[in-house]
Amino acid sequence: MRDAAMGAKATPVLRFAPSPNGFLHLGHAYSALLNASLARRLGGRFLLRIEDIDPTRCRPAFEEAIYEDLAWLGLTWEEPVRRQSQHMDDYGAALAKLREMGLLYPCFASRQEIRAAVAERERAEGRPWPRDPDGAPLYPGLARQLPAQEIARRLASGEPHALRLDMTAALQRVGAAGRELSFVAFDPDGSERRVVANPARWGDVVLARKEVPTSYHLSVVVDDALQGVTHVVRGQDLAAATDVHRLLQALLDLPVPRYHHHPLIADETGLKLAKSRGSPALRDLRAAGIGADEIRRRLGFPA
Ligand code: GLU
Repeated sequence: MRDAAMGAKATPVLRFAPSPNGFLHLGHAYSALLNASLARRLGGRFLLRIEDIDPTRCRPAFEEAIYEDLAWLGLTWEEPVRRQSQHMDDYGAALAKLREMGLLYPCFASRQEIRAAVAERERAEGRPWPRDPDGAPLYPGLARQLPAQEIARRLASGEPHALRLDMTAALQRVGAAGRELSFVAFDPDGSERRVVANPARWGDVVLARKEVPTSYHLSVVVDDALQGVTHVVRGQDLAAATDVHRLLQALLDLPVPRYHHHPLIADETGLKLAKSRGSPALRDLRAAGIGADEIRRRLGFPA
């Protein structure tokens, strides 16, 4: 196993990787400031990456606002900024490798079909169907029960399909290579511990979506490797996803960064900040006359 941060003189590389599908709020500000301050403390580089693979939710105006809000907070980052929508070839190359290993299969099912199949199984078996760490039902294997001829026919007719990772085969493959799936979790105080990854709890994850030939998991892993990211610092809500990321790194023979998953910033009522709950955006706070210094202080980053 290769640890990205273990090379004798590897320069630490950190990144803040927002998706331009809304305006940044205090939680994003915290994540960006923490990345930048750790990069400074480690004598490393700080990158900004725009995770804009989802054409239905990402908007140029939100991307512009990201640059504006981060600059307002006093952050600087390296140019050019990597924008995922411009690097589909890189994700395609990773998919091709996984396909060659026989680890991908097409899935034509819609979300509704999956939900209906899961409800049916739950009724038949009289117990809840297993869920992934995000609460979504594990893929019940619909496409895998289709006859090979039908799969070939539907592919030939150009029917839209996702590509899923065959989790069992993938785990067998890394198991056969004798590799332990674990990663180093670090805390800003410098302490570290090894965490064992358990990707099986995600089931057959989608690696290429119907409408876009990649996924969050695949793009993030490929980009962190291509950009030489040594320390991934992101919210606790993505901690479980690291299990899938670690598996993909093992399959694609990519270096393994260290990870820190920071607590999520709560609002006054103790709830996680979220656009859906109307948490104020940084630009709303700015418009209300709150200064960047005040925001930094509130988040524990004295000017
Ligand atoms: N783009 C992801 C988000 O905005 C973050 C990805 C990551 O840090 O790994 O939630």
